[in-house]
Amino acid sequence: MSTCTSCGRDDEDTVAVRRVYLVLPDGAPTDPGSIEELAEATVVDEDEDWCATCRDQYPHVLRS
Ligand SMILES: [Zn+2]
Repeated sequence: MSTCTSCGRDDEDTVAVRRVYLVLPDGAPTDPGSIEELAEATVVDEDEDWCATCRDQYPHVLRS
């Protein structure tokens, strides 16, 4: 077991990930239904280790 770098819990197995931010282009409509479609995914250049809960809740990519 190890500590989740996102929420800090240390009682669950974590997986090596990188956080992904979804960035809306300027002028895009803010309709929540279209955000995932329009947003550009930006992968953060920082290694993190996340528990299953955080991997469920936040966009990310797995590190190999
Ligand atoms: Zn977590």
